Amino acid sequence: MLNIASKKRIFLSSPHMSGNEQKYVNEAFESNWIAPLGPNVDAFEKEIAQYVGVNEAVAVSSGTAAIHLALSLLGVQKGDRVFCSTLTFIASANPIIYQGAEPVFIDSEPETWNMSPNALEKAFSDSVKEGKLPKAVIVVNLYGQSARMDEIIAICDYYDVPIIEDAAESLGSSYKGKASGTFGKFGVYSFNGNKIITTSGGGMLVSDDAEALKRARFLATQARDPAPHYQHSQIGFNYRLSNILAGIGRGQLEVLDERVEQRRTIFNKYLEELSGLPGVHFMPELKETRSNRWLTAFTLNHQEAGLTVHDLLKVFADENIEARPVWKPLHLQTVFQQTKYFKHSEKESVSDRLFHNGMCLPSGSNMTEEDQWRVIDCMRNAVISKEGDIRLM
Ligand SMILES: *Cc1c(COP(=O)(O)O)cnc(C)c1O
Repeated sequence: MLNIASKKRIFLSSPHMSGNEQKYVNEAFESNWIAPLGPNVDAFEKEIAQYVGVNEAVAVSSGTAAIHLALSLLGVQKGDRVFCSTLTFIASANPIIYQGAEPVFIDSEPETWNMSPNALEKAFSDSVKEGKLPKAVIVVNLYGQSARMDEIIAICDYYDVPIIEDAAESLGSSYKGKASGTFGKFGVYSFNGNKIITTSGGGMLVSDDAEALKRARFLATQARDPAPHYQHSQIGFNYRLSNILAGIGRGQLEVLDERVEQRRTIFNKYLEELSGLPGVHFMPELKETRSNRWLTAFTLNHQEAGLTVHDLLKVFADENIEARPVWKPLHLQTVFQQTKYFKHSEKESVSDRLFHNGMCLPSGSNMTEEDQWRVIDCMRNAVISKEGDIRLM
């Protein structure tokens, strides 16, 4: 038996501090700006807006909160319909349910693993037939890779439906030279602990529509009307980010470009060392896009490789290495059993295939060379030993 305890755990993606976060947090303590909001929040919002090139940003308590606010701002309510990428973390779609609306899931396409323009077009034409267009389309940029935004925007513009870009995983990525997360009416980033930069927990809503974001701030602070007493004429949320956490975010944002470089370097090393293995295909990078490679993802053809993703995950687990399957598509989740779903083509659901064959390797920017070699050796040995088995058969 392997002694797991003797091997250092390698995490999928763990927080990586720059050293400057403490400075901003200390400033908050020294000035007693522990709460509410404060200078770190204001500065963090300005710095993110400037970094991605939008007019305004609102710092909130999570990426999920930012998506929820975006839906509220677009007037999504009970009975409305919202299209959403199926291959994603459930947080992309939960706020649709919070609003009492109906999600409709859209398949991926093979090259970006993100929303299929074919499936989107099909979903729209069906909705037109039913006389019920969606109020919004939530487009996810998986593992840092931008979706096919030109095609998706063209379709959404044609039907005049706004886009919410869930860029929780793609901060620091770009599409045709423009920052990922800035293509929709609203963009969403997450600073959850495993994302490319973290505030330990937090999110950001961005837009060029300063008026809408003013309203986002209002909704995110309990929708308090201007009055000397507590006056409310609608229901809001408690969604703002604290000044302490925004301080962590400022320190993190300073090294975002460096973190993107580090993750891309790790991806390239895996690509170089592992792409020659039978049945291993790394997630492509669409032409004219630059992925932050938040997580290195690949598919495994089990007939060629001689083992399944499930087998390989077990091998990694035995080595105390945290690897994960690709997100389970939302249309396959028990909680969304009754939900409408549109496939990439008549004969294929791309997200189903990616889920069954896809997995993610540890990709944290704080991984050592030794960590990376442990992952590489582990995967090589697993695949090559199986290849031996096949030859013996
Ligand atoms: C992490 C993530 C979110 C949610 O962000 P939180 O800050 O954890 O609420 C939403 N969408 C995607 C695609 C994510 O990966």
